[in-house]
Amino acid sequence: TEQNFDVVVIGSGGAGLSAAITAKNAGADVVIIEKMPTVGGNSLITGGQMNVPGNWVQKSMGIEDSIDIFVKDTLKGGDYLGDPEMVQLMAQQALPAAEWLRDYIKVDFYQDQLFQFGGHSVKRGLIPRNHTGAEWISKFMAKTDELEIPIHTRTTATALIQDQNGRVIGVEAEKNGQKITYMADRGVVMATGGFGANVAMRTKYVPELDERYGTTNARGIMGDGIVMAEKLNAKTHNMESIQTYPICHTDTGVISLIADSRFFGAIVVNKEGKRFVEELERRDVISRAILAQTNQQAYVLWGSEIEQIAETVKVHKDEFAELNRKGMMYKADSIEELADKFGVDKNALMAQVERVNQFAKSGKDGEFNHRGGLKPIMKAPFYMLVAKPSVHHTMGGLMTDTKTRVLNTEGQVIDGLYAAGEVTGMTHGSNRLGGNAITDITVFGRIAGKEAAAH
Ligand code: ADP
Repeated sequence: TEQNFDVVVIGSGGAGLSAAITAKNAGADVVIIEKMPTVGGNSLITGGQMNVPGNWVQKSMGIEDSIDIFVKDTLKGGDYLGDPEMVQLMAQQALPAAEWLRDYIKVDFYQDQLFQFGGHSVKRGLIPRNHTGAEWISKFMAKTDELEIPIHTRTTATALIQDQNGRVIGVEAEKNGQKITYMADRGVVMATGGFGANVAMRTKYVPELDERYGTTNARGIMGDGIVMAEKLNAKTHNMESIQTYPICHTDTGVISLIADSRFFGAIVVNKEGKRFVEELERRDVISRAILAQTNQQAYVLWGSEIEQIAETVKVHKDEFAELNRKGMMYKADSIEELADKFGVDKNALMAQVERVNQFAKSGKDGEFNHRGGLKPIMKAPFYMLVAKPSVHHTMGGLMTDTKTRVLNTEGQVIDGLYAAGEVTGMTHGSNRLGGNAITDITVFGRIAGKEAAAH
């Protein structure tokens, strides 16, 4: 069968949804096709924090920030491999994108709390309600319902269709073994996410990241969009930059949100009971440090002082129940008890915590120079979980220009084809900073929707 639209969006994560809604508002007839039975991709399962320099919460908290500092942090965090022009654009458009999410999509951000991930010089991460991407995906879905944008799930895009001039005019897809052709009068937006769940594809670029590593990614994140676009001679960039997330579940590879207490002072130790890395270091640095420890595992520890501020156990109750059932996380009245549960060197751990408490008091971490400042770990209950790194984000991908038009290997625009989100490889360089994905996918998703609708 054949269906006709103005704009066809492939993928229903944050990038695809931002693009589809923007295109619809620009007067285009839009469809989203999604290969999984459910909407949201990786965007659904993230913590959902969004870095926005100069945001309203910063203003009310009296935090100084600027587009410039955000650009510098982002470029430096990616070893200067990100495209400066695209990073600048992302930084400039971050606030309008966040206001659009707040005022139009009705995403509920906390008004009095911000997140500071590793590599950021100030707190600038807006936090959606309950600290998960579910807040925005549910609001996005309410908006697509309201705008009557159809989302065709269980529908896998398999190829792009070009006319004789090379313009992309549609998408071949498959649903339950049936072929469906989606014709796109104005444009196709590729928003299929990265390739973190595709072991063959990631080992092609980084042999070390084989099946020993889990992944934090949703199952559908297989690099399909990159493969489809490469058939049209699209250029890829930075494909060997694949990020592992340091603190994930040791069995499933799923990212641990409960361990976000780390951003509020929880410490990371090894089986020998010792810290071995600054807890707010870059993800790649922490991941590599963990893999160098006994059993390639780490233990995250905090007490009630930190929990009171971080509230991660309170917010992520299901995660606690699951980890606790599996023997991967415990709550206890003493640190000794936790050390025994995990077979961590008890005396060394007690001595380590003692040092941390002194550093917290003096305001200076004499071991790893913790940039957020260490916090005391003295009051029960205490929490400890075991973690290891898994493949999280693929920084590389398609090359696009400032209008999100996909470029070919000669640097020319592939007419009719736009891309946004993790499928692209423009802003993060060698290492994406936490909270930058949401900014990237919303900013460029909106541009892609607008541009595709206009042509
Ligand atoms: P982003 O953050 O860039 O929006 P996500 O990972 O959140 O990326 O979303 C990408 C979505 O695209 C996922 O829901 C995924 O299942 C979907 N997807 C991936 N490949 C295809 C394909 N070939 N056809 C349709 N949908 C796809």
